[in-house]
Amino acid sequence: MRIGFFDGVREIGGNKILIEENGEGFILDFGKRFSVNNTYFNDYLGEREWKSPNDYIKTSILPPIKGLYKREIPVENEIDVNIRGVFFSHAHLDHIGLIDYINDSIPKYMSSYTKAVLDHFIDRGLIKEVKNVQIFEEPVKIGSFTVKPIPTDHDIPGSFATEVDTPKGKIFYTGDIYFHGRYPEKSLNFVKYAHDSKPYILITEGTRFGWGFIASPTEDELKKEIVSVLNQTQGLLIGNPYEPHISRILTFYEIAKEKGRKFVMTLPYAKILKRYKLIGDENAEKILSDPDTFIYKPDNPNLNFEDFEEKTIDANSISTDQNKFVLILDFLNTPELLDIKPQKNAIYVHSGGEPLASLDAENTKILSNWLNMFSVPYFRIHSPGHAPQQELLWMAKEINPQILLPIHTQIPERFEIVSNNVKILERGILYDF
Ligand SMILES: [Zn+2]
Ligand SMILES: [Zn+2]
Repeated sequence: MRIGFFDGVREIGGNKILIEENGEGFILDFGKRFSVNNTYFNDYLGEREWKSPNDYIKTSILPPIKGLYKREIPVENEIDVNIRGVFFSHAHLDHIGLIDYINDSIPKYMSSYTKAVLDHFIDRGLIKEVKNVQIFEEPVKIGSFTVKPIPTDHDIPGSFATEVDTPKGKIFYTGDIYFHGRYPEKSLNFVKYAHDSKPYILITEGTRFGWGFIASPTEDELKKEIVSVLNQTQGLLIGNPYEPHISRILTFYEIAKEKGRKFVMTLPYAKILKRYKLIGDENAEKILSDPDTFIYKPDNPNLNFEDFEEKTIDANSISTDQNKFVLILDFLNTPELLDIKPQKNAIYVHSGGEPLASLDAENTKILSNWLNMFSVPYFRIHSPGHAPQQELLWMAKEINPQILLPIHTQIPERFEIVSNNVKILERGILYDF
């Protein structure tokens, strides 16, 4: 069998892993590379539509795989493998962001949560229309391989590690993973199961190697920290969690409950919680059905609130009673501050939502300008969605594969501390295993 790594090699994100035997194969994840954002293209300068997808293939944004794309224009050195499916470990854009380039005839396997987030991103115009999505719960057979999902915990719901049965033994791919979220048992069960399977290959993330000391608070610890700030100020709490990260939204909701405040969210949060509720998520149901939960309604006659209409609240109601609310406000609704008029005891807690400071300096500056306009202090109270270095090493040692393949890290060599079987990968090469 051959395995090729297109992106995610000595970089964080962009994972695209091709596994094939005798010309039949599949791909694990198909994400956007943060590292080439704003290199050749950006929000203003895009590919030439009539050449799509070749401009992106030639600039290493997409891999040169024959038959993979919606449109086919031959390129040099194409890889000729019949791709029978693409499996998406979770819905972060560095794993799913280029899904809309994949040919409609190729099945796209993902969890029902990942599909919910994908639909949310399509709604927001971040991803174009996608066809042939299959909910991935049962094993899928592709040639001599069987592919299975193993649920894990990450800072977005519905993530899984992937198990691949091959004639030479099992391959496990961790996807992105952490052990300090609300469901550590999922990630721990995965490690135990992989260990017991005596795997041939482990493809593991190594995101936090080289990050130095960054704490990994649990949701409960984050809650305590936010509350401790709030206890000093007693004014309006404005939170900014990442829209699909329901565990963090729940943290802000719990703060509202604890402090006897009303919980208000802008429409994007309400929409994604509704999608989660429709696939049976009990926390989404709890938040949405609470009589003290409200949806923020901007003074915009064109906004359609559909079934949220009865639960809406306007800026004026919040503005006149600021210490009675916890408001989660997505970045694109930041100008609503002009109507909310936060008072000087208000606080802004940036907790994983856009803009991502390390990747988006321009919008981070804009956010800071808005907060300065109202003299609202900015607090970054957040916890990474990835295991810290010592836990990455523990996981690799515990699973103890015959071959260890690090990806989604800038320092793959770091795994050599705990394993003599690390193979350092190069981008775009098909290796024989
Ligand atoms: Zn990632
Ligand atoms: Zn992720």
